[in-house]
Amino acid sequence: MKRVFCFLLTLAVLPAPFLLGGCQKDEEPRSKYTIDAEYADGVLEAVLDLSYYNDTDTEMQKLSFNLYGNAYREGSAFSPVSSAFSAAAYYDGKSYGGMEIASVSPCASYAIEGQDENVLSVTLQESVSPGKRTDLRIEYSLKLADIEHRTGVARHAVNLGNFYPVLCVADEEGNFYECEYYSNGDPFYSECADYSVTLTADSDYTVASSGKTVSAQVTQTSKTQEFSLKNARDFALVLGTEFSVLESDGSGTAISYYYYDDENAAETLTLIENAVAFFGKTFGAYPYETFAAVQTGFCYGGMEYPGLVMLSDALSEKDYMYTAVHETAHQWWYAAVGNNQLEEGWLDEGLAEYSTACFFDAYPQYSLTRAQLVDGARSAYKAFCSVEAQLFGGADTTMDRKLCDYKEYEYVNIAYNKGMLLFDTLRDAVGDSKFFAGLRRYYSSNAGKIACEEDLIAAFGNAGAEGVIRSFIEGEAII
Ligand SMILES: [Zn+2]
Repeated sequence: MKRVFCFLLTLAVLPAPFLLGGCQKDEEPRSKYTIDAEYADGVLEAVLDLSYYNDTDTEMQKLSFNLYGNAYREGSAFSPVSSAFSAAAYYDGKSYGGMEIASVSPCASYAIEGQDENVLSVTLQESVSPGKRTDLRIEYSLKLADIEHRTGVARHAVNLGNFYPVLCVADEEGNFYECEYYSNGDPFYSECADYSVTLTADSDYTVASSGKTVSAQVTQTSKTQEFSLKNARDFALVLGTEFSVLESDGSGTAISYYYYDDENAAETLTLIENAVAFFGKTFGAYPYETFAAVQTGFCYGGMEYPGLVMLSDALSEKDYMYTAVHETAHQWWYAAVGNNQLEEGWLDEGLAEYSTACFFDAYPQYSLTRAQLVDGARSAYKAFCSVEAQLFGGADTTMDRKLCDYKEYEYVNIAYNKGMLLFDTLRDAVGDSKFFAGLRRYYSSNAGKIACEEDLIAAFGNAGAEGVIRSFIEGEAII
């Protein structure tokens, strides 16, 4: 995600003196989601057929799923949007949604659990051995709130991020990691799977998707489209009746840009094309066949999904450009190389920020340099530390905290700004050649998997790099 507005928020809370300025190989076995959904009038009715593949070392008797859509219901304990962004998100007053599970079969039993009715827990009829599969059907409906957020009816489009029950990540002992929907950061954590998604909706809708279109059937009133995506850790759709679409495959990837309010649409498409080409050349091949950049209503700057990014229609021209590159960088850092975003948000955000700075350095026509961006991050971070020192006697500068352990402006400064500074300092410490070789190794070793701080250190493989990374994470680096 890119919270451009968070920087403004940070400034808003500062006293005046401080106003400174390619995945794993396809043949590897993995779970498959087959989703057949119908959308109308703010409600998605769907059937999910899951072919679950047990890649743990444990006999699995239970499966758990994150129900992100339930965070939008009335009375949820964790709100998907903080009070600071509530007015921007709920454009027509408070509105509620939610996810209802109609049936799960075959299973011994199922229950809605978790800290906030955010987990579907299924007890299987028969346990699944390591390396074996089982099939499960989940029938559910998702009611969308009127909200400019990841999942909701926005003013000009319908955002279907996190629209299905998502398997929780299991550790080797079979314990599931449950994701609460914190308004801070991106509270998502999932393994790669294959997807076949069929959506039926009014034929007036143009549908942007994480995957490539496999088939389309149109009647006078409705359109049914099937999308396919392999080896991805999530799948998203955006529906709109106002979209214009520009397409390009100049970078070797089929890129589509969906927009309804962009006077420079051709330039935006070229920017995205350049970003896909640059990151591919710098870090490793783009992991999917298609890439959709989608303008929509979103109360933050942008949001990343595998093969699809949402770009807020409320951004200024310059922020829109920056956000498009930042979200594109997430295709390498989050989509291909995954991480637990609830525990190590800095890892993908810091890399996405720094990759964005590197991109603008390589394309001077956009009049943004790495030095400018790094200096901006440093100024904001130092201002944050000064304010924290004044107000609380010091800033907590550690980076290995869970999302819920950050204040909102604190998270922006640690995960994004300090994250960018971490990678810039690392580059200075090891030199350009070793720095980019290390990131290429990090990508090739971890694409399609879940990486953590230790994997990043291992990719650089020298004590100097380890010292820089650890000193930043542990809050000891002097900035
Ligand atoms: Zn981001």
